[in-house]
Amino acid sequence: MSKCEVPYKIYLEESEVPKEWYNVRADMKNKPAPLIHPGTLQPLKFEDMQPIFCDELIRQELDNETRLIPIPDEVQNFYKMYRPSPLVHAVFLEKALGTPARIFYKFEGNNTSGSHKLNSAIAQAYYAKKQGLKGVTTETGAGQWGTALSMACSYFDLDCKVYMVKVSYEQKPFRREVMRTYGADVTPSPSMTTEIGKKINAEHPGTTGSLGCAISEAVEAATSTPGYRYELGSVLNQVLLHQSIIGLETKKACDKYGIKPDVIIGCAGGGSNLGGLIAPFMGEKLRGEADYRIIAVEPASCPSFTRGKFAYDFCDTGRVCPMAKMYTLGHDFIPSANHAGGLRYHGMSSTLSQLYADGYMEAVSAEQTSVFAAAEQFARVEGILPAPESSHAIRVAIDEALKCKETGEEKTIIFGLTGTGYFDLKAYEAYNDGKMTDYIPSDEDLAKGFASIPNVGL
Ligand SMILES: *Cc1c(COP(=O)(O)O)cnc(C)c1O
Repeated sequence: MSKCEVPYKIYLEESEVPKEWYNVRADMKNKPAPLIHPGTLQPLKFEDMQPIFCDELIRQELDNETRLIPIPDEVQNFYKMYRPSPLVHAVFLEKALGTPARIFYKFEGNNTSGSHKLNSAIAQAYYAKKQGLKGVTTETGAGQWGTALSMACSYFDLDCKVYMVKVSYEQKPFRREVMRTYGADVTPSPSMTTEIGKKINAEHPGTTGSLGCAISEAVEAATSTPGYRYELGSVLNQVLLHQSIIGLETKKACDKYGIKPDVIIGCAGGGSNLGGLIAPFMGEKLRGEADYRIIAVEPASCPSFTRGKFAYDFCDTGRVCPMAKMYTLGHDFIPSANHAGGLRYHGMSSTLSQLYADGYMEAVSAEQTSVFAAAEQFARVEGILPAPESSHAIRVAIDEALKCKETGEEKTIIFGLTGTGYFDLKAYEAYNDGKMTDYIPSDEDLAKGFASIPNVGL
């Protein structure tokens, strides 16, 4: 098909929008390893998770067999407010690069939360409401997930308690105010409202908090407040399931216009957007029906896939959560202070970890100055100001397109543009002022994090 036959922006018709999520685990021969209890090392059962998560979400978490799961009507209705999202043919970027490659991106930033996280937030809020719960708790770092969950909870009239890492609460007031506008109760973490928060404040006076600590507080608040459960915005199987809407829409748009990607690229923090984008393509690959190159892009300063170990580890620094088998840098790993580009999580989705271990996908890392250079180049020609996280995928999409320029190959590249960067302008400022630096941890630096990985022999 020649270039001009594909519209610049492909939107699906309402009747073409997927009505079911796709569970890639159903097609995996080697299933992702189950979450285990840190004390007994036994796989967590439904009852073990019930005090923490909503019942239906636990079922989805444990379901490795059901291929298609209906999207509830109420969730579909909410999706209509900002979906389908466009698959954009990046003609201006292609021209600027002078590449024979065709580049497409799936844009998930066109909603107030500014990222793909709303796709799972609305599903999670729906199941909490359906169970008759009063509210949910969560943690947020920079604030994308907290914002998405606040929006979803306000839609279903649920209470939403967000524990926000104190340094972000104080230094990044904008997302905090978006959350409060949607009715969320936002508490800087560590706080004096939980036992673990009091303990951390007593042991480390003046601490500005961490994501691990905020998770511990949110889980405690959920389990100690009647009618509340805890919700998490990435990493878990259920989150990848909800995010499959990204890939299903992309696949449908590709099929409609005869586009067959050679390469699919996504940034990877906990793995939810990438897992969602690739889901139906990976399904074809697993069933032997088609082949695609799939590339995860992570920051060089937080390289879980490319330099981490595939092992059981705690999902949080506070060790209150279960253990997951994943590529991990160790739950004590903290990326260097100059890290501006998001994707800071020490671990990775166990589904993607298994697929990576089995050779179904590749991973590369990118340094943040080159990521911001790609972000700037993209913004100037395609117009959208990308989130730093998304810009990792842009970096590698550009690199792959430039390789095609050398070889003359007319490959088709699709990448996930997960969100917009309006709240990340401090990082852009550092880049524009020439003050942004790169940091690649040495093997000795990583060894400290690896030392925190428990040796459970599984
Ligand atoms: C949270 C976030 C990510 C990374 O999370 P994943 O779970 O790996 O998808 C990427 N991009 C944006 C814009 C985000 O908000």
